[in-house]
Amino acid sequence: MASFSIIHFNDVYNIEPCPMEPIGGAARLSWYIKSCDDPVVLFSGDVLSPSLMSIFLKGEQMIPVLNGVGVKCAVFGNHDFDFGVDHLEDLLADTLFPWLLSNVIDNLTNEPLAYAEISQVIVSNGIKIGLMGLVEEEWIVTLATIDPEDVTFKDYVESGRQIAHSLRTQGADIVIALTHMRWPNDIRLAEEVEDIDIILGGHDHDYNVQQINGTYIVKSGTDFRNLSHIHVTKDENGKWKFDIKEVELDSSVKEDPVIRELVMAKLALVDDKMDNKLGDMMVELDGRFSKIRTQETNLGNFVTDIILTATNADMTILNSGTFRSDRIHPRGEFKIRDLLTILPLLDNMLVIQCTGKQIVQALENGVSQYPKLEGRFPQVAGCRFGFDPSKAKGHRVDPALVQIQDQYIDLEKTYRLCTKEYIANGKDDYTMFKDCPILVSTENCPTISTCVQNHFESVQILLGNKECRSGHKQSLLCLVKKEDIIVSKQESSDSINKTLVRQQSIHDAEIEKPHLAPIVDGRIFQYDDEKHIVMLALKDSRSVKRLDLRQEELTSSFDAGDEDEGLEEMVSN
Ligand SMILES: [Zn+2]
Repeated sequence: MASFSIIHFNDVYNIEPCPMEPIGGAARLSWYIKSCDDPVVLFSGDVLSPSLMSIFLKGEQMIPVLNGVGVKCAVFGNHDFDFGVDHLEDLLADTLFPWLLSNVIDNLTNEPLAYAEISQVIVSNGIKIGLMGLVEEEWIVTLATIDPEDVTFKDYVESGRQIAHSLRTQGADIVIALTHMRWPNDIRLAEEVEDIDIILGGHDHDYNVQQINGTYIVKSGTDFRNLSHIHVTKDENGKWKFDIKEVELDSSVKEDPVIRELVMAKLALVDDKMDNKLGDMMVELDGRFSKIRTQETNLGNFVTDIILTATNADMTILNSGTFRSDRIHPRGEFKIRDLLTILPLLDNMLVIQCTGKQIVQALENGVSQYPKLEGRFPQVAGCRFGFDPSKAKGHRVDPALVQIQDQYIDLEKTYRLCTKEYIANGKDDYTMFKDCPILVSTENCPTISTCVQNHFESVQILLGNKECRSGHKQSLLCLVKKEDIIVSKQESSDSINKTLVRQQSIHDAEIEKPHLAPIVDGRIFQYDDEKHIVMLALKDSRSVKRLDLRQEELTSSFDAGDEDEGLEEMVSN
């Protein structure tokens, strides 16, 4: 009777064991696999990030692990793009097995993104196993390191059908889809594509098995803590049978000494990387609690601006408690150590849809404790607002003076807000966001420190210090700015040329931006009654973009009748 066995796992982040059972760890996975009789090891994506170790090693610690446990084939997950396509391609060169991505095309090359394979046939026990790798549009279009305009997503059902057919004609005895997408999408795949025998998925971290239309969908947990051990046999009618066993890698499972040693070596390597330079800051960064918890600082602007561009949101709010360094960072070399001093935690972000009214409520909450040095004080990007500290809590922010993307806020309109999971969950009394629809989930967003690292990388590329082979990198421009860029030569009909022209225009705009010299630009300002009246008058008389005016300057510019010039000048001072 024809038979073989599969080990399937997905979404692994930490190679070292965790403190709670099942404690897992790469060495336990390896031991378990070696105790089996030559199984086909398949992986469903998300391995390079996020983890504390990945801040230093950018996922390179995972390559010897995946090779060591004998992975035969894998599909990409969203987090495998966290450090960009160039980096991913570099790491792939060292893996000993093929990576699949069957339904995403890179418009710059007309090839599968990151030069992945579309399908693969491997042989086990004389059985030809056909494999494809399918992903969902939701995360492909929200990758921080790729402009969604630069890739073409194909429907996974259509691709699945085509590839299954082509695998059969190549002689595949069985067809397996490795996927990295949410349950409803895997279910649709099972419902609509008859020719796939089993779906081995990732992206969801809970261990779960369902049978839809006679096809099993298997998600094998997360983080080297769980796996599926599947025994596959063919019955008398020629139909494949799957005996699926969930395995928990708890402390009773032994560790493979070879992988254990490798894990220890990687942990030691982390210490050495602390002093790696990310870039040269042209200015000091102000992270003092006395400043960042009471006013806008250039460190707050630096980080929130980066997040805004990485997530293509309309605005960003971070609680200033996110910034932990409580010091001035001198100009000059900025190292990983500095980044970790400022952002020691892996902060999960997400993009939610909220109304103008909710944003104003959030800003009110943010300034409600002023002048106490409270961590809820907001640092923002894509937004400009003022507050009157003499007023009672909850009445300090005049919505009439709040701007989003240089437009006065519309309280009824909805906006895309990028923030931390912490705030979206209502911590620090940001309770107004609790029921907001989630546009990009935490699982689909990179962490804050990854975005900051990528920003430094993009600057190195723009300065000509680093090559960008793939043409994909995290942008320095927010979505609104990119949309503003009018591409004059867009009439070119060929899509590769169109993409190149658009990229060049964005590059030209990026290169004009001052690099690594964040400033305080007046996005958070204070006013009193007198200044408030003048500001409202100015707002009504014309569009004022910047409102951070000192009283005497405001009066003189108002009197002089030369408001535009006066205002711009004051802001730059
Ligand atoms: Zn994922």
